[in-house]
Amino acid sequence: MQMHRESLRVPAHLKIRWGRYRRVGFSGSHQPCRLCAGNDTVVVSRFDRWLNPLVNVMCRGCGLVFLDPMPTDEEINAYYKDQFWLRSQGSDEPTEKTILRASRGGESLLSLLSPLLRPGMRILDVGAGGGEFLVAARRGGFEVDGIEPSVGYARYCQRAYGIAMNAAPLADVDFGDKKFDLITCNHSLEHMRDPLSALRRLHDLLQPDGHLYVSVPNLGDPNIWPTRYFHAGHLYGFTHETLVMMGAKAGFAPPFGTETSLIFRRLAAPDPNWFSFPGYAAQAEIKWQRHTIWRYLFTPRNYRRIPGRIRYFLNDYLVLTRTWLRSVLNKG
Ligand SMILES: [Zn+2]
Repeated sequence: MQMHRESLRVPAHLKIRWGRYRRVGFSGSHQPCRLCAGNDTVVVSRFDRWLNPLVNVMCRGCGLVFLDPMPTDEEINAYYKDQFWLRSQGSDEPTEKTILRASRGGESLLSLLSPLLRPGMRILDVGAGGGEFLVAARRGGFEVDGIEPSVGYARYCQRAYGIAMNAAPLADVDFGDKKFDLITCNHSLEHMRDPLSALRRLHDLLQPDGHLYVSVPNLGDPNIWPTRYFHAGHLYGFTHETLVMMGAKAGFAPPFGTETSLIFRRLAAPDPNWFSFPGYAAQAEIKWQRHTIWRYLFTPRNYRRIPGRIRYFLNDYLVLTRTWLRSVLNKG
């Protein structure tokens, strides 16, 4: 009977999560650009990726993209504490799909960073999710710490891997005198309400010769669906130019890496000449005017990526369905 009941239930990875398609009702207010403090902005999108109303503007001074209105600290902290994952995946703890992908991502990030790694290093992961990168790093012999504002993900990390995660926003975590050799910030900076202050805080948490890895969605990619990276949780949109400038303003040397996955080395003090792409905002404004949904649809090369995307999703779903079938048959 157990097997019969289980087999009638739709497996978690095949359920449609309608919550992610609905608009998030943040209020918030207009705020100046967090990179150059400018107030002259232009609207680059009025919709999120699901075509719900959501306004993103670009600063005409430096090219940084951000939400307008910007949600308040209280709204953001409450959203990431226990709402974000519940809405987007129907569970406040990692699902089998997110664990599968995060484990793969954690291993590949550790291998990417291997030229920087030295025995006994202290590593901090900011926005650590369920802790899969920390697990890979611990297996490599490193001392690890993590920050993850989602209480469900932090709880899962403690239970599944025995790693005590700091379940709070970055600004609220106190490490005392502890400093780190390497900090990773993998697809989390764009979710923070004040990314410049966040980078400055990470600068303070690093050893004098420490490194910071930052990866964010690349808004400068001309071949993406125009609203792909716009949703209520993405408070900022970065390109290579704006991420490099923000890193310099926060006290980091010109990074190595491409596009918006970059490795920054800590400098003793910020570069006063951080504004290294003065003509960028004007160029970006022209790009945004041209980057329309119609142009995307009538550009043949955008369709070449579809088979690869289908293979990627299909592969995950096949792995998860096989695991699910096995568990159902074992219970039977
Ligand atoms: Zn600006």
